[in-house]
Amino acid sequence: MAGDGSPELLIVMGGSATADEVGHVVERLEEAGVRSRVTQGREATVIGAIGDRELLATLPLEGYPGVEQVLPILKPYKLVSRELAPDPTVIDVNGRRIGDSAFGLIAGPCTVEYREQTLETARAVAAAGATMLRGGAFKPRTSPYTFQGLGAEALDILREARSETGLPIVTELMDPRHVEEVVEAADVIQIGARNMQNFLLLAEVGRADKPVLLKRATSATVEELLMAAEYVAKEGNDRIILCERGIRTFERTTRFTLDLGSVAVLKQETHLPVIVDPSHAAGRRELVLPLARAAVAVGADGIIVESHPRPEEALCDGPQQIPTGEFAAFAAAVAALVELMGKQIG
Ligand code: PEP
Ligand code: MN
Repeated sequence: MAGDGSPELLIVMGGSATADEVGHVVERLEEAGVRSRVTQGREATVIGAIGDRELLATLPLEGYPGVEQVLPILKPYKLVSRELAPDPTVIDVNGRRIGDSAFGLIAGPCTVEYREQTLETARAVAAAGATMLRGGAFKPRTSPYTFQGLGAEALDILREARSETGLPIVTELMDPRHVEEVVEAADVIQIGARNMQNFLLLAEVGRADKPVLLKRATSATVEELLMAAEYVAKEGNDRIILCERGIRTFERTTRFTLDLGSVAVLKQETHLPVIVDPSHAAGRRELVLPLARAAVAVGADGIIVESHPRPEEALCDGPQQIPTGEFAAFAAAVAALVELMGKQIG
């Protein structure tokens, strides 16, 4: 494992360990050429030691003042694992929060089609209490003959929607060549299902100074999703929101099979917030509310939902988009359940 930067050990400090004692451990690790990551938990401070296993073995870690326990990190994912940070991560995007008791309600059109369509949607979802605006500028389409998104022009429309409504923008990055313009415009960079294992793209957003919304690929395991998140975190960006959006199974009555079990597993395995996309999983608008409710009940930290002023005219994913005129009722139904779970819409 030498030199690959994976954290090998968790150093758990005792409940009464002082900041100096934590600092002392970090200094000894640094002297030995081992990087560290300190997580201030509610119950204890945990130091992840990142570096050469053999080097680590030479340090008398257990003898340092304040150290309670030294444990190996057994999971293949390290930085995103719950072992490293036992408390949930809360991601703050311009004052809108996701994680722990804050539930994110991200809504907007599948695709930015034209200015009025996006602004109308942004106003409607903002008025209904959405916390962020979604909208694709660069679209990953199954067919090369369908609308591929407005690209840079869409980013300008999203900027306008943000300045009018105050909602942070979530938009997808598909290509490393677009990193600069998308990272500049977005408040949260979406990595879509089709790019979940585009490792170069993951490393790019790992170096960006914006949170990342990472969607599960349709045939990826939970472990593969967590390893993809690890690629982002390894580059230094640990503001990652994971998203379950349905996987491919033999079932054809829904567009994809929403794997709610994975949400429960992810909540145990990682400290990162986990949200659900009921729109792409359902494929039909009448199923979006029941799946959204199920997501809240299973413990998701938010949902990302598609809405359009006139879904019958939508250039992409019309059948699953909630008409903006119905969005307030949808949001109220979700909010009722969020409250029942002891959370607030962030
Ligand atoms: C989207 O959210 O716009 C999208 C394309 O979703 P997915 O990557 O999950 O298919
Ligand atoms: Mn869509």
